[in-house]
Amino acid sequence: MNQAQQLPQQLLDFIDNSPSPWHAVESTVALLEAKGFNPLSEKEPWQLNAGERYYTIRDQSSIIAFVTGSKAPSESGYRIIGAHTDSPGLRIKPNPEQKRGAYLRLGVEVYGGPILATFADRDLSIAGRVSVKTDSGAQAFESRLLRIDESIVRLPNLAIHLNREVNQNGLMFNAQDELPLILSQPGLEGINFKGLVAERLQVDENAVLAWELAAYDTQPGAFFGIDQAFIANSQLDNLASCHAALLALTNTLDQANDATQVIAFFDHEEVGSCSAKGADGSFLNDVLNRISSTLEASTQAHHQAIANSYMLSADMAHAWHPNFSNKHEPEHQPIINNGPVIKINTNQRYTTDAHTEALFVSICEEEKIPYQKFVNRSDLACGSTIGPMSAARTGIRSLDVGNPMWAMHSIRESAGAIDHGYMIRAMSGFLRC
Ligand SMILES: [Zn+2]
Repeated sequence: MNQAQQLPQQLLDFIDNSPSPWHAVESTVALLEAKGFNPLSEKEPWQLNAGERYYTIRDQSSIIAFVTGSKAPSESGYRIIGAHTDSPGLRIKPNPEQKRGAYLRLGVEVYGGPILATFADRDLSIAGRVSVKTDSGAQAFESRLLRIDESIVRLPNLAIHLNREVNQNGLMFNAQDELPLILSQPGLEGINFKGLVAERLQVDENAVLAWELAAYDTQPGAFFGIDQAFIANSQLDNLASCHAALLALTNTLDQANDATQVIAFFDHEEVGSCSAKGADGSFLNDVLNRISSTLEASTQAHHQAIANSYMLSADMAHAWHPNFSNKHEPEHQPIINNGPVIKINTNQRYTTDAHTEALFVSICEEEKIPYQKFVNRSDLACGSTIGPMSAARTGIRSLDVGNPMWAMHSIRESAGAIDHGYMIRAMSGFLRC
């Protein structure tokens, strides 16, 4: 592997180790602990010192890590990078087994907005978390991560001879009747799905109380292109932004910083962020309040800190696609491997304004990184990110930035190998600004 491939390969490995949002937080913790970050429980009182490294987790799939600045937050504020840990896909129903003819199928709910057709004919398996009974008593259970490594489920396509119009009309699935995944032929191997979960966790079947399990693609990430300049994997949206933010935070630990640097990764972005641990919830505000009050013990000081802060909402951007060239605004066509994309929307679907845009442009110029600007076509509805709700909840000036990618919400997305290093450098510059 050449040197240019090292950072993108680290990203592909991070994603391959993170087949669900719960695993993504586990992978994040492993990287943070290797760099000396200390865990804080929201249930315990916090004691913080200047220039130290901490992280806290809310319900296993949202995490905030921070390095306290050498100056008080009221003086230098917070530099926050936000991203999300979840990706759209298929989630296993509570009573999932559906016998249909000679086959046992696994019923699924659609989580968020995946391109359903891309789930067909992939080597799928199951990963997520399971609540397991540990003793008698109402709270005597624990949450265990589960990842089944080999492919155990599949969504086979219908032959073109039975679906003659598929290339004219596109591949469509009815989410109730046509999405269940093929699990087995009963009679060939007599084990049920709950029994399989119990066996893999090495617990009694009756100890399996509840689960949140996702279908994931077992195919590892890969490079492609004649010069291997592109990467493909599941969940690039938005684990690529999480990984870039993590490296930006942990690569500059030897340099003292005035401001308190924060990375905040939220679950539930793909379903609207409205939850106790989502970006529309209280998590970020609670943590910032706690840092301010622990370090300075003054409401006045916290308001000063907020006014001195910036947030970068990091989420992937739509690269211009040469096969669908009229889907973009002609003067705003983000190109893969041409640097981070600043996302702008006058209706505040993105938070970027003239002030924060200028800040990011200045950082890129300082760091000698290319950058691009994006607005949607005026006749197309614009997507959104965690940016607007985080900005509204905290009152912190914010902007939306992301690397360009193709096939957003496909189970096999693609992006640029070179862009990942650009984003890490831009984010490092932002955390130090
Ligand atoms: Zn996203």
